[in-house]
Amino acid sequence: MEIKNIPEPVLTKPNDVKIKMSAVGICGSDIHYYTQGQIGSQKVKYPFAVGHEGAGIVVEVGPNVKRVKIGDAIAIDPAMPCWKCDQCLSGRHHTCREMKFLACPGQAEGCLMEYIVMPEDSCFPLSGILNTDHGSISEPLAIGVYSVKKSRCAKGMKIGIFGYGPIGMSVMLATKAQGIDNIYITDKIDARLAIALTEGAILTSNPLKENVVDQIRQKEFLGLDVVFECCGQQEAFDQAIDILKPGGQLIVVGIPEFDYWSMNVEETRRKEISIQFIRRQVDCVEKALTMMNTGLIKIDKMITHRFPFENTKEGFDLVADYKDGVMKTMIDF
Ligand SMILES: [Zn+2]
Ligand SMILES: [Zn+2]
Repeated sequence: MEIKNIPEPVLTKPNDVKIKMSAVGICGSDIHYYTQGQIGSQKVKYPFAVGHEGAGIVVEVGPNVKRVKIGDAIAIDPAMPCWKCDQCLSGRHHTCREMKFLACPGQAEGCLMEYIVMPEDSCFPLSGILNTDHGSISEPLAIGVYSVKKSRCAKGMKIGIFGYGPIGMSVMLATKAQGIDNIYITDKIDARLAIALTEGAILTSNPLKENVVDQIRQKEFLGLDVVFECCGQQEAFDQAIDILKPGGQLIVVGIPEFDYWSMNVEETRRKEISIQFIRRQVDCVEKALTMMNTGLIKIDKMITHRFPFENTKEGFDLVADYKDGVMKTMIDF
């Protein structure tokens, strides 16, 4: 990883917004590109800028821009859909056929840069108590909000979140915001489980040390209603099928490093488990921002580390090696 000098980006379309970046969160997908150079079939061609969880200050706007003005602090939605294809027209612009997404190879460079240009549709002004940290966190948090929206979660249900990185934590915060209290968390890092406990998890367990299914079943004899798989691990997927009650729902949010999930067909079928995969999020950035602005969701335990832009590599290495109880690492400009 290196820092390169490149020309400052310029506005090319009337609804373009130029942003001076303030904060960029490091995401698991950035780490996949950093350590593996690819996610599935999406391969990086170097040089390539990563980063898609960004917030900054508007420094220039095109003549048609209405939503933001120069000087505004904004959150950036990294998705730039075409707004014209069948997916976009049916409200599924997160699966747009012509999607351009920040830091996606072949689509767009990432936002770990001093300046970027985005369409105004991707810019969300930060109001009230919201600062650029909230703006940056709104990206993973929106995925949590969307995942919960796609689930059948309701008050009184027993919920599992398997994998408690920033996405698992986002799901937890969104679940709690719905008034759901019976939440069971697993992760291989004890420091993360400690955070989960302070956020109100009923039980946390570490699959490296315990049989998590047995542990949960001791408390919930009938099993769980919904499990969110948030780590992309086959064993977590299997544990979810195991601990779900008949009619239960598995929400798969995690991005695995392998190409095929496998599942116990008999158990999944007999229990009539429904499985819902999650592709990022749609229309949930503003919801996530509002939930933070009203205090319904607090993110103070999410950001555990910060590095100045010059030391970005240090931040990436820390996250890649899961060192020092890291949850979300922020790069500051
Ligand atoms: Zn992300
Ligand atoms: Zn489209």
